[in-house]
Amino acid sequence: MHVMKIIVSIILSLLILAGISSPALSASEENASLPYLSLSEFLDEMDMDLERFIAQMKEFAQSGVYPHYLEKNAARYEAYRAEHPDIPFANVIAYVNVDLDKEHYLDVKEAQDFTESSILLNKTFFLPSFWSPDDLTEIGSRYLMRAEAAENILLMQNAITEDGLRLHIVSTYRPHERQVSLYNRGARSRGVAAADRNYARPGHSEHQTGLAVDLLHRSHGGSLTSARFENSELFTWLMQNAHEYGFILRYPEEYKEFHGYIFEPWHWRFVGVSIATAMHNEKMALYEEFYGRYITSDVLHRARELIYEHRAAIDAEAAAVLAAEEAAAQEAQKRDKTILRKDIINGNKKTDSLL
Ligand SMILES: [Zn+2]
Repeated sequence: MHVMKIIVSIILSLLILAGISSPALSASEENASLPYLSLSEFLDEMDMDLERFIAQMKEFAQSGVYPHYLEKNAARYEAYRAEHPDIPFANVIAYVNVDLDKEHYLDVKEAQDFTESSILLNKTFFLPSFWSPDDLTEIGSRYLMRAEAAENILLMQNAITEDGLRLHIVSTYRPHERQVSLYNRGARSRGVAAADRNYARPGHSEHQTGLAVDLLHRSHGGSLTSARFENSELFTWLMQNAHEYGFILRYPEEYKEFHGYIFEPWHWRFVGVSIATAMHNEKMALYEEFYGRYITSDVLHRARELIYEHRAAIDAEAAAVLAAEEAAAQEAQKRDKTILRKDIINGNKKTDSLL
């Protein structure tokens, strides 16, 4: 059975070498922009789950290769590192990969993964105004979220109730037009700078994805900031358990300069159970960091290349072991034949002497 597996993997790697599903990219292909590759497509192709993928990426990092290092960003990594000598280089790479080295809203780009629950939306990446999710599902009678997020918020709400706490939903899906009026009202009354700290500009709000939810421990009267939610038991509960339902705190206190908002303890984002759990296990609090390490399409292309090379190396090693085993077996067979022949000759001699 084991030998069969090795043979199959040798055949597969030979097919790959023959260019049938060539993962290796030529220099010119690498410079051209690669087709978008989503995390779920990537994991499917690699036949891996997220946990295994992260373990593999860490293995590369331990062997001295930053798997999320993109040659095209080399100069920007160096510039950002020089400006932020206190940030570990692995984080510098992740941040630059998602343009955190650029000023907010300066060089905006359309988000690539509209339908994925892993979508990154921030002060760089936006959704077009016409876009709305096609699987909005009702939560109670007032709120809408995408189906998977809705299902999970209800499961989480049940768990919270069972633990003797209450969860109040304050806001969920918000269409583009609603964000336009919210932001404009904020900008008129408080000025652009303050509005930008408190509201996303239209197209940049996670509420348009149908994956974000504002939560409070008591029914909402007055401003969210005045609720002091961060001191509540519910907030502590969420910090410990929300990942099991696929939710992450999106605007943590200690990363304000990166996400560009005030600390929003009420704003939770559905990214899926596996990503939220991985972030929790990795103790990674900023989604941009996780995204820049593991989800950016360019990073996935590079990871794919590294993994194929790595697998080819493993296969080559296995093939060498197999060849050595075969040679040893042939040698042993030859020896057996010689002994057998000697036995026959000796036997003949014995028979001769008997005669
Ligand atoms: Zn919010």
